[in-house]
Amino acid sequence: MKRILITGGAGFIGSHLCERLLGEGNEVLCLDNYFTGSKRNIAHLLENPYFELIRHDVTTPFYVEVNEIYNLACPASPIHYQYNPIKTVKTSVMGAINMLGLAKRIKSKVLQASTSEVYGDPTVHPQPESYWGNVNPIGIRSCYDEGKRCAETLFTDYHHQNNVRIKIIRIFNTYGPKMHPNDGRVVSNFIVQALKNEEITIYGDGSQSRSFQYVDDLLEGMIRMMDTGDETTGPVNLGNPEEFKILELAELIIQMTGSRSKLTFLPLPQDDPVQRKPDISLAREILNDWSPRVNLETGLEKTISYFEKLIHK
Ligand code: NAD
Ligand code: UDP
Repeated sequence: MKRILITGGAGFIGSHLCERLLGEGNEVLCLDNYFTGSKRNIAHLLENPYFELIRHDVTTPFYVEVNEIYNLACPASPIHYQYNPIKTVKTSVMGAINMLGLAKRIKSKVLQASTSEVYGDPTVHPQPESYWGNVNPIGIRSCYDEGKRCAETLFTDYHHQNNVRIKIIRIFNTYGPKMHPNDGRVVSNFIVQALKNEEITIYGDGSQSRSFQYVDDLLEGMIRMMDTGDETTGPVNLGNPEEFKILELAELIIQMTGSRSKLTFLPLPQDDPVQRKPDISLAREILNDWSPRVNLETGLEKTISYFEKLIHK
């Protein structure tokens, strides 16, 4: 049995990870300040004696004895990370320093949930890990993009300077049950709007593309990455290489929910990436032939049924 710390454990991805790692017989410590996460996401785990919940903010140091740390604490949706951009940078940068300091002290592994946003508005398509990105340092997305880029730098430097056992994964757009219904990300927005027969909000003309990964596929890749030997540090892309235009996603969700919603076109936010699709060759190679198993329709079915229950509660 391993003892594992998950920062941001009450959030969308974190709560799935808590459940999965507990289910595999580990002891799980879930740390969160509940900025975007919710106790509701992990309430069903509270009776498990191997699950522990800690209210804490990663911008201040935290000490505990664990074997592994998954550092997920950070708001991930544009409306939430732009709400208090200074705090977003602090969460990424000081959170990384605090978790790396802890990992150094207790000699644990530490995995950083980085993001495809480090590639910014990419000029290389699909994006391999070797691409350095095209990021605006002073735009509305910069607090998130540059915060995550700096966290990658810190992880790499703690590894080189102090031999900290690091792992960096770059997560591409991930969706599934337990996303916050109002967090503004495209999959949750469109499903909630479709279920309520409200207008579907397309930003721009909907020709921008994203590649959507179901949360279970991400968890599998994340855990495989944590289980690699110390020489494997990443960064490694984890995402589903099937690419869709935002307009196609809207049409699919309307069709799957049988919704009467109409499309409405709103201005495209500043610096919104035009295209995004992971090159997952490295993940396949180093993670035992990992690749996503859940296609968009199957993943959407599960997510739609989650939101149906939530809305009709
Ligand atoms: P989320 O907003 O649901 O989860 C983030 C969690 O971190 C929340 O529970 C929140 O309360 C907590 N948190 C925020 N600031 C904190 C702080 N200062 N101290 C302690 N806890 C704090 O988002 P998510 O989609 O589950 O994302 C989890 C991680 O994965 C994030 O680091 C995000 O950047 C990364 N990621 C997610 C995606 C995606 O598509 N979902 C893509 C790329 C990267
Ligand atoms: N988007 C949209 N309507 C919405 C929410 C998002 O058209 O209601 C678009 C957004 O402009 C972006 C894409 O969908 O081009 C993905 O947005 P999201 O916020 O989910 O993630 P990110 O931009 O960080 O990839």
